[in-house]
Amino acid sequence: MLITPQELELHRIVVSKTYAPNVLDYRGGEFRQIDPLQVSVVAELAGAEIRIRGAVKTRLETSCDRCLGPVGIPVDRDFDLTYRSVRTIAREEEIEVPADELNVGFYTGEGIELADVVREQVILSVPMKVICRADCRGLCPTCGADRNREACRCPALEPDSPFATLKGE
Ligand SMILES: [Zn+2]
Ligand SMILES: [Zn+2]
Repeated sequence: MLITPQELELHRIVVSKTYAPNVLDYRGGEFRQIDPLQVSVVAELAGAEIRIRGAVKTRLETSCDRCLGPVGIPVDRDFDLTYRSVRTIAREEEIEVPADELNVGFYTGEGIELADVVREQVILSVPMKVICRADCRGLCPTCGADRNREACRCPALEPDSPFATLKGE
């Protein structure tokens, strides 16, 4: 659904919506949404900008960075976003954004697609590094064995990073 300033001039928009799994794509399938996603938002005009406040809740599944096994990621995120049309910048000579407006996003076209907001917020709630458990041993870089399940006989690799000695293995 498209949130447009024209409609917001008439009334604010209050939406509660559920997206079933497989409706939204997250980075070409890098994350799979395994529960229905619930989103509720309130959108209103704030001067020339559009303010969207709300919350998303769902559950994702992705692969462990170390062993490639499945990892569930709970998503439960509140947001408070401000958007400005790119058309308003095009008209201004300077594109310098004041420091207190760094959190302003921009939209192109007629309005803001709710699904885009939802997708962005879901991806932002995924941690930088996803591992199945803190002590996941990962895959052997030589033979590919899952070291959580089997001990292979590959010789240990030469330490190749300054952090290698910190692992204590
Ligand atoms: Zn793992
Ligand atoms: Zn191995």
